[in-house]
Amino acid sequence: MKTIGVLALQGAVEKHLAKIKFSGNKGVAIRTNEELSQIDGLILPGGESSVMKKLLIQNNILNTLKSKIQSGLPVFGTCAGLILLAKRIENDQPTLEALNITVQRNGYGSQLESFEAPLTYHLKVLSEKKAIFIRAPVIKAVDPKVEILAKLDQTPVMVRQKHLLAATFHPELTENSAVHQYFIKEIC
Ligand code: GLN
Repeated sequence: MKTIGVLALQGAVEKHLAKIKFSGNKGVAIRTNEELSQIDGLILPGGESSVMKKLLIQNNILNTLKSKIQSGLPVFGTCAGLILLAKRIENDQPTLEALNITVQRNGYGSQLESFEAPLTYHLKVLSEKKAIFIRAPVIKAVDPKVEILAKLDQTPVMVRQKHLLAATFHPELTENSAVHQYFIKEIC
């Protein structure tokens, strides 16, 4: 059994904790640097990336988290969490600067605030058919060392770079737990 943290400064924390528990592991809400050092992996949830960034700085966690990621802490960022992980953000400053992708915040536009769509998965273990997008970012570019795990039409929506996993959609909101299981089993 692994201990998986969910950053709980802001955003959609509970549903991630439930998925972790459902997959037979221990989920803990993370609010301090001390809690950060007691986990096998971390989920950065959806929410508002600018608010989460502010709280990471205010609570003095940003630099600790950055160095933990550099030394190999497995992290799964969903939606706002993917924005926090990205190295490049169009018209904005990056936060953790870890994942080699370029992102556009709210890139699907206001007409498509929230939608559900079938994905093409490039990995067999990920069997989730429909994905939920909420004011989602768009991945505009990925470096060659970043693996594309799922696409919506031609656009990557789930990517992996070694110990970092990120999705522009919300796998905690659909019934299937395959994405969480993949992160915990294969990456943590
Ligand atoms: N639009 C949000 C942001 O820019 C992300 C939305 C989400 O996490 N559901 O941070």
